[in-house]
Amino acid sequence: MNKEKFIKKVGDLGINLTDIQLKQLDEYCRFLLEYNLHTNLTAIKEEEQVYLKHFYDSLTFIKAIDPSKYETLVDIGTGAGFPGMVLKIVFPNIEVTLLDSNNKKINFLKELTMKLGLTKVNFFHGRAEDFCIKNREKFDIVTARAVSNMTVLTELCLPFVKVNGYFIAMKGSNVDEITESKLAITKLGGKLEEIINFTLPQEESKRNIAKIKKEKITPECYPRRYDKIVKSPLK
Ligand code: SAH
Repeated sequence: MNKEKFIKKVGDLGINLTDIQLKQLDEYCRFLLEYNLHTNLTAIKEEEQVYLKHFYDSLTFIKAIDPSKYETLVDIGTGAGFPGMVLKIVFPNIEVTLLDSNNKKINFLKELTMKLGLTKVNFFHGRAEDFCIKNREKFDIVTARAVSNMTVLTELCLPFVKVNGYFIAMKGSNVDEITESKLAITKLGGKLEEIINFTLPQEESKRNIAKIKKEKITPECYPRRYDKIVKSPLK
């Protein structure tokens, strides 16, 4: 996706990017591709692919919820910043926490934050299960893209969400994975409000975004240890 098409398609999502935001995205793309030559951050190696599969795809988040109406967001397993860093650039008022167990990715994001002069960005190097000990029911929005199976992901993410906040899971084509996690969602205090499906422009790959509202406090016993979460998924 070239930049003109990107601006047009993002406009169709209802987002008008400022010149500053476009410059920041440009710098993000350049720094990502340059850093990726020596440190493995992403399989994507071309600018147009970054704009489509990382930047545009991250912004489809707005189909589920408008981040400018909330104060805090945490991106679990953010990798090289998707969707969390892109949302921070485009909705600068929200305080974003970027979490990943891979420190190389966190270091990249710290450098990028300095370069772009962004404020109200927090970092956590570690596993979601460990971050949860001190951060239960703390964020308005929790999101994750391409991290793990929906049932596992729900147990990792929903405990962080404040009551009345949202967990927005950005998933690929497999909608069954989302419907199969319904029981886990309920046990963890959530309600599946909506599944938003669409195809990515140009290459037409399918996407599903699950919009989950936190209705009740998550029982203290969740999240369990990671090996347990994976070995005996909630059902
Ligand atoms: N969200 C990014 C990265 C996806 S790759 C994107 O869509 O491009 C998955 C990332 O999740 C990896 O960077 C990995 O280190 C991280 N990850 C996986 N399980 C995790 C866990 N339990 N806690 C923290 N990070 C995790």
